[in-house]
Amino acid sequence: MNKRHFLKALGLGSLALMEPGISIAGNRDEEKKPKAPVRHRIWINPSEKDTDAELKQRYAEYRATGIGVIYFEEDSERHFRAAKSAGMEAHRWFWTMNRNEPELREKHPELFSVNRKGESCADKPPYVGYYRFLCPNQPGTLQYLKSIAEEQVAKDYIDGLHLDYVRFVDVILPVNLWAKYNIDQSKELPEYDFCYCKTCRDKYAAVYGKDPLEMAHPDQSPSWRKFRYDSITNIVRNLSEVAHAKKKPITAAVFPTPEIAKRIVRQDWTNWPLDAVCPMIYHGFYNENVQWIGDAVAEGVNALKGKFPLYAGLFLPDFHGNNDDIRKAIRLAIDNGAAGVSIFGSVNSQLLAILRETAG
Ligand SMILES: [Zn+2]
Repeated sequence: MNKRHFLKALGLGSLALMEPGISIAGNRDEEKKPKAPVRHRIWINPSEKDTDAELKQRYAEYRATGIGVIYFEEDSERHFRAAKSAGMEAHRWFWTMNRNEPELREKHPELFSVNRKGESCADKPPYVGYYRFLCPNQPGTLQYLKSIAEEQVAKDYIDGLHLDYVRFVDVILPVNLWAKYNIDQSKELPEYDFCYCKTCRDKYAAVYGKDPLEMAHPDQSPSWRKFRYDSITNIVRNLSEVAHAKKKPITAAVFPTPEIAKRIVRQDWTNWPLDAVCPMIYHGFYNENVQWIGDAVAEGVNALKGKFPLYAGLFLPDFHGNNDDIRKAIRLAIDNGAAGVSIFGSVNSQLLAILRETAG
């Protein structure tokens, strides 16, 4: 499986942010009055090959269909400014715990997460070569991530920070990937169970009086699980302070429901200080049909209790071009309390028409 496919397969990418319409009004670059209420979000990998004229036309069209926020995978000032000129917010998509910079693992291998067998992501990444997750409890990790986040939100053309990979390595992969990897993950396997570095074990032991490695069944320990949820939550809390210090919103792409997110990647996202969340409700990866999207949204919305809005992340390839299903998914999301949807996949005119229909 190549990198791009794996990224998609794991549900990488998504989008989100803020209450519809709130921050758009302050955009002085706005050239036209909005044509549809701001409702949806979209994820984009900006190409430098696009001309200014193309961007102007494309982003005006996106805005007209009710897209209010774009999450950009790369820092492209031209794309960001074009999106803002069209009346949208331009946010930087930020890989958080998974960091691939080769110089980081050469200079600071101690920052990387360690599994229950003692293997580090620095030299033995699980599943695929680019799975280089940091340990959330190494002081250097927080320092490093904060410095990057500060640099990003200081830029005047970046309207917000969108966290992705803000989690542990998948201790369990979504079920449709098991066959691809020839893995049966009906239980937590030690090689995919992180972080058992000495810092984490000592920190846990200081409070709970035991080393997780000494437990007969560490996977069954509620306090050891919670310790790891809280370790990620602490990272999010700090990055949230960085964004909010610049009065910029922070959002995150997370796993589809609070229960699944905690169980397979140690994300406790309903307790994060975010401005919006985009659960990647990618039904195909869980062998579910479109109907499940409504169930997942309802679970997230109920758990959030109005703390911040939820945008349902939809994975377009899972719809296999069935526009009725896309329409149904968006309707289910909104009817179950989502503020809108966030789209992962290539955008075409039919999709834009559906987004426009559902933006009102
Ligand atoms: Zn650790």
